[in-house]
Amino acid sequence: MMILLQADENATWLAPYAYGVVIIIILIAIFRAFENWYANRFNRPLFRHYLVYKKLKPEQIKVLEEDFLFYRKLSNKYKRQFRHRVATFIQDKKFVGREGLVVSDRMKVLIAAVGCMLSFGRKNYEYGLIDFILVYPGEFYSTMNDSHHKGEFNPREKALVLSWKDFEEGYKITNDNFNLGIHEFMHAMQLEARQRSDIDSSRFSRQFQNILKRLTNEEVKHKLDETRYFREYAFTNQYEFMAVLAEYFIESPEEFKKHFPTLYKYTQNLLNFRYAGY
Ligand SMILES: [Zn+2]
Repeated sequence: MMILLQADENATWLAPYAYGVVIIIILIAIFRAFENWYANRFNRPLFRHYLVYKKLKPEQIKVLEEDFLFYRKLSNKYKRQFRHRVATFIQDKKFVGREGLVVSDRMKVLIAAVGCMLSFGRKNYEYGLIDFILVYPGEFYSTMNDSHHKGEFNPREKALVLSWKDFEEGYKITNDNFNLGIHEFMHAMQLEARQRSDIDSSRFSRQFQNILKRLTNEEVKHKLDETRYFREYAFTNQYEFMAVLAEYFIESPEEFKKHFPTLYKYTQNLLNFRYAGY
């Protein structure tokens, strides 16, 4: 009896805290539900980015300022977010040089920058399926299909593998529709969308279906044949199509939009990419 009484007293004393906890849990659940509804309704996350606190070193910022056109086009607010994201990426991923290549700080900044550019419209920007970035000086031999590659995303090893020479050409020449980094990061993003159900992954899957459906439209099919706008490799399979689509979207948005306005809109929604003139 005595014990029971004590238990009751304890419960009374705890009650206000218990109510508080329950109310907080309910509020979080309501907020999450609203966030999901909003993302579905408007094809974009309610909040892309909460806190900006990570800093890059001055010499790292210099690399962005001098060598990364997209960064230069951003507003100051977005520049701060971008630097935070690049810093997080560099901190989280393990960079490994291959065949004698030493991964410099500049290389890390530029690889992180390309990844963060593609995911800049997302709340979930960190590429959870990538732990390692392997960098070769040039083309490398891949055991994935016994041939030479310029880049690959290997989900089993959680590795993004890049030829530095081709990566550099990819981001430096900004209008030839070849961008190795964008191509490989897109593969990682697409697999993540298949495996996860966060607001960015659901939006990705929905817009991806829209894109596939659009490709079966007779008029679009005809136009694809006639213009040969997307390079042949895009039609290898649906994954390569998405990776190549992302390269064209990033490299020549004006032309892409002119030829295929609806596909452009779906790609823009898929990435929530509304920055720097896109
Ligand atoms: Zn590919």
